[in-house]
Amino acid sequence: MIFLKTEEEIALMRAANQLVGKTLGEVAKLIKPGVTTNELTRVAEEFIRDNGAIPTFKGYPNQDNVPFPAALCTSVNEMVVHGIPNDEPLKEGDIVSVDCGTLLNGYNGDSAYTFCVGEVSPEVRNLLKVTKESLYLGIEQAVAGKRLGDIGYAVQTYCENHGYGVVREFVGHGIGREMHEDPCVPNYGKRGYGTQLKKGMCLAIEPMITMGSRQIQMDRDGWGVRTRDHKPAAHFEHTVAVYQGKAEILSSFDFIAQVLGDKEF
Ligand code: MG
Ligand code: MG
Repeated sequence: MIFLKTEEEIALMRAANQLVGKTLGEVAKLIKPGVTTNELTRVAEEFIRDNGAIPTFKGYPNQDNVPFPAALCTSVNEMVVHGIPNDEPLKEGDIVSVDCGTLLNGYNGDSAYTFCVGEVSPEVRNLLKVTKESLYLGIEQAVAGKRLGDIGYAVQTYCENHGYGVVREFVGHGIGREMHEDPCVPNYGKRGYGTQLKKGMCLAIEPMITMGSRQIQMDRDGWGVRTRDHKPAAHFEHTVAVYQGKAEILSSFDFIAQVLGDKEF
């Protein structure tokens, strides 16, 4: 069942998602060779709680009821999504996807950004650039009257035309009072197919794009998702509200941009 949000609810969604954006901005300040992903999640959790919100990911159960142990998913290099933070220092040339969720006043925020650690190879920087661009192409399709397949088609064709793989097993989602609501929002699809989008739908759109094959494998911890060929993967996510004509992006990369300046990729 898809819940359409009122303007009052969208205002609450905006607040939760802006807090996610600010949290990612705090994380951006810390990313450099030598920092550990445990340090990133510690700072993020404190920032979220200081702002009166709950880090939704912490304790979130997977299908086997294994709770996620941290406030952030931190997915390094070949890890696609859902990486558990650890004490291994990030290295020059790594990339790290940081995915963050907050629950504020009963509504959820969810957004992710893939960061470069120091100097990253041009090939990998291009993967990040194309994945981020595909997110915005997907968002362009997230307007009332279009269909879910239009979003997936836009992301898929753009990424595949660059020779990249589009992960099928994990997808975007509706979001609201629950972090994961209907509908599923695949990053692949057919133009003009799927559920019709309506004003008031809130969607987390999140391309997960691989440099090589799109095949993935699960870690034994029940969470980590890696590329099977161990090539890098990128992940960018915004939460948006569907309107007539143009979606509103409720989350924000502005706080990240303030930190990174022109050193984005
Ligand atoms: Mg997310
Ligand atoms: Mg999400």
